[in-house]
Amino acid sequence: MSYKKEKILCFDAHLDIAMNAMEWNRDQRWTVQQIRASEKGMTDKPDRGRNTVSFPALREGKVGLVVATQISRVVKPGSPIPGWYSQEQAWAQTQGQLQWYRTMEEAGEMKQITDAKSLEESLKLWEIPNEKSPICYVLSLEGADSIISMEHLLRAYNHGLRAVGPAHYGPGIYANGTDSSGRLNERGVELLKTMEKLNMILDATHLNDDAFWHALEIYNGPVWASHNNCRKFVNHNRQFSDEMINELIQHNAVIGVALDAWMMVPDWIRGESTPKARNVTLEIMADNIDHICQLAGDSLHAGVGSDLDGAFGTEQCPYDLDTIADIQKLPGLLKNRGYKSVDIENIMHGNFIRFLKEYFGGKQLLV
Ligand SMILES: [Zn+2]
Repeated sequence: MSYKKEKILCFDAHLDIAMNAMEWNRDQRWTVQQIRASEKGMTDKPDRGRNTVSFPALREGKVGLVVATQISRVVKPGSPIPGWYSQEQAWAQTQGQLQWYRTMEEAGEMKQITDAKSLEESLKLWEIPNEKSPICYVLSLEGADSIISMEHLLRAYNHGLRAVGPAHYGPGIYANGTDSSGRLNERGVELLKTMEKLNMILDATHLNDDAFWHALEIYNGPVWASHNNCRKFVNHNRQFSDEMINELIQHNAVIGVALDAWMMVPDWIRGESTPKARNVTLEIMADNIDHICQLAGDSLHAGVGSDLDGAFGTEQCPYDLDTIADIQKLPGLLKNRGYKSVDIENIMHGNFIRFLKEYFGGKQLLV
């Protein structure tokens, strides 16, 4: 592996790394190729043998800082969406994921970012990275169903949880997510109030339109959208309308642009459409980034939130990306569009790092 100087540090705002380790049984210390080989012949999940993320690939792509998730949903029996039948089971699942992150920290493979000091240390580590540089991560919860009570949220905060997306797909305990409707329920309002008290980041991703507008109206804490594309290109409720993007810009949010093919080209049919046939390339990521920059009038609100290995692999992501290391093609694409170095750096890492510096520089609770 070579670490060329010209690679630009990448901050990826959404990776389900523990989910892959614990549910897909992927040892993230292996190369992407080793993981693919280990899944030969497996058919239990559509993305078997097609992963794009592992620690060596992250290091090769200079993706040194990430937002890494805990993820676990609560569903009713018969639901088409997978999940657990109780909040207690969902909580336990996220605690298993947390323990995996802890074990990787002990092994020197990862480092948790929880405050200004650990952020500075992480940036320092990635000034001159090497083959052993730890992947530095901010812990985030995708979908809040697993939070049994506000006491559990406090406990999670004390474990380093800094960002929460209240919803995921369909109906949720606190808020309804993608492909559903309705404002936050009473528990959702209480969740946001408690998050605000704890000074946590609200992740607006996956909130349905009603809940999105409700949440942004009542939440006075920091807001970002970890992995979201634009409705302008794919007219689906999972995507942000221009009005939503403008509202996020008003809140000083950064929006991470995602690499799931169905969010990049319209009318994607899972399991049938192919990235080549639909011409899904990283240029479309640049289109989404550019659209956010055009709406903002600057390069301060767009970033990377790839969601790679978020239950999809090379069968459903840009075909000019074999592993996450290919994210290093993005700066060239932006350069071709006339983006200056400073704008490219903002998008690759600067915006999310500025966001975190301001966030950690603000009110921090000692609990
Ligand atoms: Zn997601």
